[in-house]
Amino acid sequence: MTKRILIVEDEDKIARFLELELVHEGYEVVKKYDGRSGLEAALSGGFSLMILDIMLPGINGLEVLRRLRKTSELPVIMLTARDQVMDKVNGLDMGADDYMTKPFAVEELLARIRLVLRKHAQGTESSVGSGHIHQVRNLVMDEAAHTVRYQGKEIQLTNKEFQLLRELMINCNVVLSRETILNNVWGYDYVGETNVVDVYVRFLRQKIDDAVGEKFILTVRGVGYVIKDEYHE
Ligand code: CA
Repeated sequence: MTKRILIVEDEDKIARFLELELVHEGYEVVKKYDGRSGLEAALSGGFSLMILDIMLPGINGLEVLRRLRKTSELPVIMLTARDQVMDKVNGLDMGADDYMTKPFAVEELLARIRLVLRKHAQGTESSVGSGHIHQVRNLVMDEAAHTVRYQGKEIQLTNKEFQLLRELMINCNVVLSRETILNNVWGYDYVGETNVVDVYVRFLRQKIDDAVGEKFILTVRGVGYVIKDEYHE
C-alpha cells in the first residue's frame, strides 16, 4: 500500500521540493502551509508520517506536536533552523521521532523517513501481545499497557524515553555503554547526533529521579549507564 506523508511547511519552495522528491520515491504527499490545518490533517488520520516545520504561521510546529501527541503516535520528523537548538530538544522531548536541521541533504531526510517508518512498524508489531512487566525496586513498567509507575503513581514518558528506560530495566545491574544503548534503542543505522543517548538520559532523569526521589539512573564514568536494584552510593 502506498504510504502517505504529510508535509507541514509554510515555505512553498521547500514544500514543493520535498513533495517532488517524496513522490519520486513512491510516497503519496499532502501539503499544508500552517500549523492549524497541518494539525487537522494529521488528526484526520490516514498518514504514515508527518514532516513538520517548527516556524509556522498560526500555531508553531512544537505546539502542533504537543497537541498531536495527546491522541496520536503518528511518526513525526521535525524541521528546525540551525540556531534553534532548544526547539530541537523540546521537539524530541515532546515525542518527535527525529529532526532535520535546515539546510539538509534530501538523501538524509529520505533515509530517516525509511528508518522512522521501519521502527514504527516494528514497534507496532512487537507491542501486540507482549505482556511483559519489568520491575526494579518500586518502579514498574508494563510494556503491554505502555505505562511506568512508581509506587503506583504513573510517570508520563515519551516513546523514546520509554524504550530507553526499558533497555536499562531489562539489563538491571548491567552497565550499558552509550554505543550499546544507541544500537539497541535507536538502531544500528541511526544517523543522527551521537549525544542523543545523553540527551535522553537527561530527559529520563528529570522524570524518574524526580518521582523516585533519588538518583535512579547511575552514570558509570567512562563506561555508560546503569540501573541497580539496590541503591549504593
Ligand atoms: Ca517555516
